[in-house]
Amino acid sequence: MSFYPPRRTLMGPGPSDVNPRITNAMARPTIGHLDPAFIELMEQLKGLLQYAFQTDNALTLPVSAPGSAGMETCFVNLMQPGDKAIICQNGVFGGRMKENVTRLGGEAVMVEDEWGTAVDLDKVRQAIAEHPDARVLAFVHAETSTGVRSDAEALCRLASEAGMLSIMDTVTGLGGIEVAVDAWGADAVYSGSQKCLSCTPGLSPVTISERAAEVIRSRTHPVQSWFLDLNLVMGYWGGGESGGGKRAYHHTAPINALYGLHEALTILKEEGLEASFARHRLNHEALKAGLEAIGLSLVVAEADRLPQLNLVSVPEAVDEAAVRSMLLNDYNLEIGAGLGALAGKVWRIGLMGYASNPTNVRLCLGALQHALVAQGLNVNGAVRAADAVYTAAGI
Ligand SMILES: *Cc1c(COP(=O)(O)O)cnc(C)c1O
Repeated sequence: MSFYPPRRTLMGPGPSDVNPRITNAMARPTIGHLDPAFIELMEQLKGLLQYAFQTDNALTLPVSAPGSAGMETCFVNLMQPGDKAIICQNGVFGGRMKENVTRLGGEAVMVEDEWGTAVDLDKVRQAIAEHPDARVLAFVHAETSTGVRSDAEALCRLASEAGMLSIMDTVTGLGGIEVAVDAWGADAVYSGSQKCLSCTPGLSPVTISERAAEVIRSRTHPVQSWFLDLNLVMGYWGGGESGGGKRAYHHTAPINALYGLHEALTILKEEGLEASFARHRLNHEALKAGLEAIGLSLVVAEADRLPQLNLVSVPEAVDEAAVRSMLLNDYNLEIGAGLGALAGKVWRIGLMGYASNPTNVRLCLGALQHALVAQGLNVNGAVRAADAVYTAAGI
């Protein structure tokens, strides 16, 4: 029997709603991965990714695996056994970075900040002063587990001033907030297809600066992951020095998934980066107004909030899991639960990419209000408060 998934509205931490233009693109005929038409698609994809990342980096490509593989690609290529990395952790994903470093035989120096707060630049300065021999400074630009944005520009500058390579996780940032790879001087940056790009999961856009590409080319110790070794992947994608040259088989590219990413990036370019960022901000403002109208508050300090991932504090006496179940069962609406220390205390409401629109904001607010009323709270006016924000913005 065929599998038919339910139709949901995805307003959690990702995947986000996929634009039907993307799934339609993915249904087009599969061709060979060295077909001249496919090579042309690969070239266009590189250009579209350069646009999204705001970079001229020649080594810009989608890794054929999810965001976690983009993370691993950056660590295993930039670091060798014995290398030291300073890792900023203010949520789930910094912990994974540490795993990557220790598993490749490196040493991780952790700079920890409380979940729900941004990376503290002073702590990073201190760690750099104490560990000037570190090769890498790694951080999460947009922490999906907490809805926090850290100052990526400042962190990249701290890394380059100290002669270190920066590794930036912007899986949830790309397409939703400013990601200016060249202007910030970021060295190795990875993202994901299923957050603000609103594509299906399973691809990880990566971009590598010329400085970092040179480090990769001149390694003395082979990258321990054959599949993620960019020296080999470059041979297929024609990035870096071999740009435009002959392409050799490395692995079979996920052809149809790449049609989808191409369409997702085309949609982003049609809208324009600035317009996309503004749309994410506006829908976040409307959601916030609606939440506040029914007594719900955002946890993260205003200056550090991600518009695409809203950490909402669950009021005392409200059963947070029951609310999520009601949203899923009665509204086909998915929102996220809290992770780690935040489990049971927060909801995570995503407004990512295609899912960041007024219809979804109203749906979510109406559903949340209904769920709170069902739990005995006396609240109303959520959608009206959001509408006031849209009206003020001329929508
Ligand atoms: C989702 C996410 C990842 C992992 O991406 P997958 O596609 O799930 O492997 C890494 N970092 C951040 C910040 C994320 O939000």
